[in-house]
Amino acid sequence: MTTVTASEAAYVVAALLFILSLAGLSQHRTSRSGVVWGIAGMVVALAATVGLASKSITATGLVLIVVATAIGAGIGLWRARVVEMTGMPELIAIMHSLVGLAAAFVGWNGYLDVDAELTGSLLGIHHAEVFIGVFIGAVTFTGSVVAYLKLSARIDSRPLTLPGKHVLNIGALVAFVALTVAFVARPNMGLLIAVTVIALALGAHLVASIGGGDMPVVVSMLNSYSGWAAAASGFLLANNLLIVTGALVGSSGAYLSYIMCKAMNRSFISVIAGGFGTPAAAADDGEHGEHREISAEETAELLRDASSVIITPGYGMAVAQAQYPVAELARKLRERGVEVRFGIHPVAGRLPGHMNVLLAEANVPYDIVLEMDEINDDFAATSVVLVIGANDTVNPAATDNPSSPIAGMPVLHVWEAANVVVFKRSMAAGYAGVQNPLFFRENSQMLFGDAKQRVEDILRSLDALDTPLREMAGTSG
Ligand code: NDP
Repeated sequence: MTTVTASEAAYVVAALLFILSLAGLSQHRTSRSGVVWGIAGMVVALAATVGLASKSITATGLVLIVVATAIGAGIGLWRARVVEMTGMPELIAIMHSLVGLAAAFVGWNGYLDVDAELTGSLLGIHHAEVFIGVFIGAVTFTGSVVAYLKLSARIDSRPLTLPGKHVLNIGALVAFVALTVAFVARPNMGLLIAVTVIALALGAHLVASIGGGDMPVVVSMLNSYSGWAAAASGFLLANNLLIVTGALVGSSGAYLSYIMCKAMNRSFISVIAGGFGTPAAAADDGEHGEHREISAEETAELLRDASSVIITPGYGMAVAQAQYPVAELARKLRERGVEVRFGIHPVAGRLPGHMNVLLAEANVPYDIVLEMDEINDDFAATSVVLVIGANDTVNPAATDNPSSPIAGMPVLHVWEAANVVVFKRSMAAGYAGVQNPLFFRENSQMLFGDAKQRVEDILRSLDALDTPLREMAGTSG
């Protein structure tokens, strides 16, 4: 078997491993094995690619590839080890930007270094690939950088509303099509520079125009774009595995975006077109009335007397790393015979599945962790809801106020319960920048402070409430 056929066979194995990886990642229980399949696929793919390259490049070139791979792998391992769970979304966004940048570079290289054997229509196809690759790569690059800046709160997460923003987006797309036709007819650097600049501006503008509440869809959409950018590079480099892998990432990312749009009651087209067709949000008048506060001891008493409790975690639980005491609280209450369940909103936190990962890490049993659709009808019959660092995902304005920026987004109906205790540090708004009328409802009380510390306080108070009972039992025994 030659090196080329061995490498091509290894590509098929790697592609199968990537498909197994995606299948594994689709469920909590199998997600760890999904990651292992993905790592195995990438190792096979890298080894096969270096094997293929060794036929056509010098020893120095090969050494450079190995050194570059080692540096990249080192940086990747270091970032993955030190990143906090709360920093994952922005890490993913910046990774997507690198895929986009690489695709744009591959495109430029395809223009500067044309295979002398390409002539006629094949040369035309090559130049179309160059142009499309540079366009998708540059859109992905700046779109992901803006997503990174928004997710890491380095810039405001509110939507940018330039006058005529949809005309600008459509104009950029029309210009791209016209320039592609011109470039295929007469390839020249001026046109390639023009499309690069237009694509960089379009990527930044598309993502800047999307409001905080819709960012989850943007993250999965950029994931999809990065896949298509990689596939475009695969065509240019005549690398079948890159085409297959790019298409897998592109289509799974597009499907995830579609699922998330459905979960959030958003139009897929509207989100990918930078908020196209979304009415301008009305300003918040700030008039919501008075809120009431509750202490950890009072919350413990409320929980002691409760028959059913639902815990709805959000981004604040991740920030506070409160999942362990929260899991302990759930265990203690269940021991006392209280029915305890978790209600998970599809976009709670900053990553799809963010809350599920945290709760699994703290060994909360899967069967008491329910999706929003499974639990939303049960709030009305619940004694106490603990809202732990969630805000937008429990905001009744999404259902009551048609001019709210999050109007129409399905939310957890926590306000229907007899008592709601909201854990947060202040009266600040959630990620979408909208005030939450839940905090001012008659059945809601605020428990201010870091969520982890407050839950630990409640655990201590519950123990203290139990102590006299234990002592009485000891005396009578
Ligand atoms: P939000 O981001 O709306 O609110 C989180 C709340 O947690 C804040 O109000 C904050 O209030 C509180 N908080 C922060 N730190 C702590 C702490 N240490 N202790 C206690 N409370 C704390 O949370 P949700 O999870 O409800 O909503 C997620 C939002 O993020 C949605 O708008 C969603 O669209 C968006 N998003 C989701 C992504 C995903 O894929 N899941 C990706 C990108 C965005 P305070 O500061 O007063 O403490």
